[in-house]
Amino acid sequence: MKCPYCLSDETKVVDKRETNESEVTRRRRECLKCENRFTTYERIEMADLMVVKKDGRREAFDRDKIKKGIVSAFQKRGVSAEQIDAMISDIELKVKGKGAPEIQSKFIGGLVMNRLKRVDPVAYIRFASVYKSFDDLSAFAEEIKKIDK
Ligand SMILES: [Zn+2]
Repeated sequence: MKCPYCLSDETKVVDKRETNESEVTRRRRECLKCENRFTTYERIEMADLMVVKKDGRREAFDRDKIKKGIVSAFQKRGVSAEQIDAMISDIELKVKGKGAPEIQSKFIGGLVMNRLKRVDPVAYIRFASVYKSFDDLSAFAEEIKKIDK
């Protein structure tokens, strides 16, 4: 489990409790390097989490799809793969932390935009300008590719 602040691998669990949903364990962790504390929601099986799209269709939560969209937004922006991975893990934890069986795609899009805004305004604008007219992160990735050509 990586620290979302400094990306160190060395963290310790300071508190642990089961959430209402028995398959989710909430852990309070502390980074041994920067001493920041953060909460993780760890679930054994995530395959059943469904994303509800704008048109009402549902599809399984797919981390790779989110990654594709974010990687596209950061194209040629000098952001490291590690930073991107940490960002995705953070988003994933937020999504899973809701503990709901279904999640709106626009909630995920909003999480992505919040993080991009903080890290790189250019990536944010790229993402926001294209993503807002899409409901789908993979469609977004395709669109960014076209823009860059
Ligand atoms: Zn840290």
